[in-house]
Amino acid sequence: MTFASLGLAAPLLQALDGLGYKTPTPIQAKAIPAVLAGRDVMAAAQTGTGKTAGFALPLLQRLAESEDKVGSNCIRALVLVPTRELAEQVQSSFRQYAEHLPVSTYAAYGGVSINPQMMRLRRGVDVLVATPGRLLDLFSQNAIKFKQVQTLILDEADRMLDLGFARELDTVFAALPKQRQTLLFSATFSDEIRSLAKGRLRDPLSIEVSPRNSTVKSVKQWAVPVDKKRKTELFLFMLKDRRWGQVLVFVKTKRGADELVDALLAKKIKADAIHGDKPQASRLRALESFKAGEVQILVATDVAARGLDIDDLPQVVNFDLPIVAEDYIHRIGRTGRAGATGEAISLVCADEAPLLAAIETLTKQTLEREEEPGFEPDHRVPMTNGAGQLVKKPKKPKVKTGRSSKGVPSNWVGFDDAPARSGGRRPAGKATSGARKSPPRGR
Ligand code: AMP
Repeated sequence: MTFASLGLAAPLLQALDGLGYKTPTPIQAKAIPAVLAGRDVMAAAQTGTGKTAGFALPLLQRLAESEDKVGSNCIRALVLVPTRELAEQVQSSFRQYAEHLPVSTYAAYGGVSINPQMMRLRRGVDVLVATPGRLLDLFSQNAIKFKQVQTLILDEADRMLDLGFARELDTVFAALPKQRQTLLFSATFSDEIRSLAKGRLRDPLSIEVSPRNSTVKSVKQWAVPVDKKRKTELFLFMLKDRRWGQVLVFVKTKRGADELVDALLAKKIKADAIHGDKPQASRLRALESFKAGEVQILVATDVAARGLDIDDLPQVVNFDLPIVAEDYIHRIGRTGRAGATGEAISLVCADEAPLLAAIETLTKQTLEREEEPGFEPDHRVPMTNGAGQLVKKPKKPKVKTGRSSKGVPSNWVGFDDAPARSGGRRPAGKATSGARKSPPRGR
C-alpha cells in the first residue's frame, strides 16, 4: 500500500517523500481515507503508531482543498493536546507535512507569555494546536473565535482527562460549531473516554490498531524488585553493568527527578531532568540535548514527558511506577518505536505492588520479575495473581524455631519474588543489609 493509494495529494506525497515515509502504518491506512471522506473517527492508538500523520495528513488535505479563507482571530481546525511538549511536537509534524501547502499552523500553550500568541492569532490560523487551559484563556480574552472551526481533534484524550481537563473539554465542546468533524485519539479507551465521545461524535469509525489496552509487542518488559532506598544505587549499577546508552527514566515527582539527576551528575554521567517546574525553554533544551546525544540520561515526570518524540530509544526505565496505570503504556511507548525493539525495565519496591497489580490488570499480562543479584529486596514485593490482584499474605504458622522457613507451606509463593531464579528465592521478613549475593539455600 502507498500513501498515494490512500488518496493523498501531490504536495503531501512530496513532503512524505522528503521525510522518508514509504508505507502507511496500520492506523494511517485506516484513518486517512475515513478522515478524507469527512467521517468522525474514534481511534485507540498508542504513541509510536504514526497516529499524528494519521490525522494531520488528511486534515491538511481537506483544508487545502476548501475554498474557505481563515478570518481574523479565527481558526479552521483545532487540535487539543494535553501538554506543551506534545503541542510543540504535533505542531512540528503539521509544519513538516504542510511544507508544500498554503496552510498555516500554530501552537498555543501555557507556561509562556500569552501576548505573542494573541498577536499571532489576529491574522487567523488554519490549524491551531493547543492545550485546553491556554485555549480557554485566549477564548475568554476574545483572541480566538471558533465560528470557522470545521474539525476538532482530541489527541491523547485519555491523558487530558487524567490531567483533570474534563471541565475545560466540556467548555470547548459547548463553544464549538455543532456542524464539524470530530476525531478522537486515545492510547486506551476507558469508560470515561467513551462517555466523553458519546453524543459528540457522529457515527464515528472506530479504529483499534493494537489489541485493546495492550502494550506494544516489540518491547521487552520486566520488573526488578528492589528496596525503595536502593533504587538509585541499582539504577547506577544496571546502567554500568548492562552498558546502557541513552535511557529515558520516569520518576514520580519533580523532586525525585532532580535528586536522581544530582546523583548521576555526581558520578559524572550526563543527565538532565524535564518536569513541570522547569520553564518551557529549559525543558525543550533538555529534550534537544538528549536527542542530540549530548545527554545520556533524561529523567522525566509523566506530565512533562507526554508526547516526547524520541526514536530508537533502546531503554526506558520506570524508576517509580506510575500512579495512573495508563501512563505505563505511554511510558513504554517511548521505546520499540517504528518497528525497533526496546526494553522497558521497572524498578519496583514493596509499596508499589498495588500499582504493579493495576498495570498488570490493564495490560492483561504479568510482568516478569528478575532480581538483580546483590539488590534482592529486604521488603519483599508481594506477588500478583495474574488477574492484577495482590496475593494476600497467608498467616504465618507459629514456628517455635523462630527464623527458620520451616513451617511455611511449601506452596507458599505469596512473598517470593522471582519465579525459579536460582539462589534468588527466600522467605520474606528477614532483614539484611548492604549489597550481597543471595546465599544459596540451606546454608
Ligand atoms: P506518532 O505515533 O504519531 O508519535 O509517530 C511516531 C513516529 O513515527 C514519528 O517519529 C513519525 O515521524 C514516524 N512515522 C509516522 N508515520 C510514519 C511512516 N508511515 N513511515 C515512517 N515513519 C513514520
